[in-house]
Amino acid sequence: MIISLQKNISAADSGNLLLALSRLLPGCRRRGAPAGLAVAINNPEKAADAVPLLENLPGVAGVALSDAELCPLACAKAKKPFSRPLDFGRGPVFIAGPCAVEDEVSYLASASALKAAGAHALRAALFKPRSSPYAFQGIGWAGLKIIAKAKKITGLPLVTEATDTRQVERLSAVCDLLQIGARNMRNYELLKEAGRSGRAVLLKRGMHATLREWLLSAEYLLKHGAKKLILCERGDTVFSTDSPGLDFGLMRDAKRLTGLPVLADPSHASRNREIAVKLALGALRAGADGLLIEASVSPAAARMDGRQTVTVDTFRSIAGK
Ligand code: PEP
Ligand code: MN
Repeated sequence: MIISLQKNISAADSGNLLLALSRLLPGCRRRGAPAGLAVAINNPEKAADAVPLLENLPGVAGVALSDAELCPLACAKAKKPFSRPLDFGRGPVFIAGPCAVEDEVSYLASASALKAAGAHALRAALFKPRSSPYAFQGIGWAGLKIIAKAKKITGLPLVTEATDTRQVERLSAVCDLLQIGARNMRNYELLKEAGRSGRAVLLKRGMHATLREWLLSAEYLLKHGAKKLILCERGDTVFSTDSPGLDFGLMRDAKRLTGLPVLADPSHASRNREIAVKLALGALRAGADGLLIEASVSPAAARMDGRQTVTVDTFRSIAGK
């Protein structure tokens, strides 16, 4: 923790600050830092409580915590490499499938074809968070038996988005990874419930979320029990075609700070399958641990996101099969 002091802080205010520190963070070690004090933090809850109180003190210009102090679990880099439900450490991991499960015939056809083309896991979305209340919202629980069948036929793990705390338990019974979508990165009750599920979680970066906000959401999941966590960058664009892109620098920073697997989603970052291919290859060159990508046997027939969905052949060439 860095406490910046006002230049003209009085001796009385300095004394008060030291007293407050020993009361709020007993036993903390501190040393002088440029224009203030550096305080070693060993309890994130006490630190979180102390910050607003210290900021209120006369003579204090500001109080800042580092990423590692704010997110000690997410930034604890000594993480075991994954080997289940996905194998990180043996080259890029590919999670592929249509944007949404629409019907049994097309989903099973895509699932088998994508497995043969190099997919390690299937996108298996039953609930879709849509900007328009009139847009297709996903087939919901009716799809559970379809994705279970796909898992049985292909043997591939399923990745599904939970959009509501009430879905977590039932989805966890069938699916191997719970996806927290961009819109829900800041849904803290959902993060807690997903953490408690015991399932591996894939956490997308919210639109326009900073690295710190993303890490804090990762911290929620880990604090509430998630043992396996994957980060996924999906860019900031929603429906505009201007500057589609993924933030490779931010992905690298997330990887450096957390040691967690970091995937890229080139589909939602581009909203266009030609750009999606470029982003996919760029992300892999930039060191992404893999891709979450929309791919199917019939992108042109998709009820949603078909334009950004690549064909199985294109997916195969991206996966290098
Ligand atoms: C998705 O991957 O299905 C999805 C809805 O993406 P995002 O949350 O990134 O918009
Ligand atoms: Mn989609």
